[in-house]
Amino acid sequence: MRNGRRADILNVMEKLHKTAISATDIASQFWCEKQMELNCMHGSRITRQINVGRKMHEELEHEANVPLMLQPRSYADSMYKKLYSSMLAVESIRERGRAREIAVYGSISGYRLVGKIDQLDFRDGMAHITEDKTRSVDTLPSEQQLLTQKVQVMIYRRMFDDIIGGLYTGGNFNASYGISKMEVTPEFARQLEAEGVDQELRKIMKVSDRFFSGIKALGRVGDTLRIRYLNQQTGREMKLYDFQYDAKETDGYIGFAMKYWSGAREALPVPAEEKWKCSFCAFFKKECTTWS
Ligand code: SF4
Repeated sequence: MRNGRRADILNVMEKLHKTAISATDIASQFWCEKQMELNCMHGSRITRQINVGRKMHEELEHEANVPLMLQPRSYADSMYKKLYSSMLAVESIRERGRAREIAVYGSISGYRLVGKIDQLDFRDGMAHITEDKTRSVDTLPSEQQLLTQKVQVMIYRRMFDDIIGGLYTGGNFNASYGISKMEVTPEFARQLEAEGVDQELRKIMKVSDRFFSGIKALGRVGDTLRIRYLNQQTGREMKLYDFQYDAKETDGYIGFAMKYWSGAREALPVPAEEKWKCSFCAFFKKECTTWS
């Protein structure tokens, strides 16, 4: 790679204060790429609606997963907690039938890729991905919203395929994050002891190996991907939307998105026919004047 291009790549990540691209970043590019960029640069504007949605996700997680009372004190502690809770979720899925809030890691064109899967259900001998979306009104999303949600879930599915197929391994994860050199804080180690975590498993590298092995052991993830819409006020399930994973289509979405991250083009605002999105955008007429 020429030095100029490498500088572009670093510039995009630096400009957005990021060390990894998330599946939701890529999904957001299909709503408005410019808005995604501004959200990363200025911090996303947390609305009451987003907070209610988060609370609902937390409640669902507590219902489905083995409860964990761990209070991280450092980056290494947080990394451990994420890997350990995801490992427990994946390892218990056959017995419990479902698991929630599973961290997933991967790589695209040398970039770190991260995601968090809302739910995995185990049926017909394999795991199936479900993404929850909360809505404040009892209407279903527009085609444009649905596209961003589908992209997000297809990327999760791709990340699982890469791990199960050996394209992204615990070794790749270690090389990228340097976890073999990380140590949890003494206070966090005491919490692990109190939780009854085996001495052997108190090392981040160990828990990472078990996590990646657990995903590989799933063997296969179903082709039918699901988005579940929940009413924000009542928590009632409004609709299940199932669609089929398409590897080629996913390649197309990733290819488009990566042109931005690689510095091949600037962030795109919405086209004229989608100007209506600007009236829902916190950056309209302020940080973004494209359609003012
Ligand atoms: S104002 Fe419109 S074009 Fe600009 S970031 Fe927001 S949605 Fe995108």
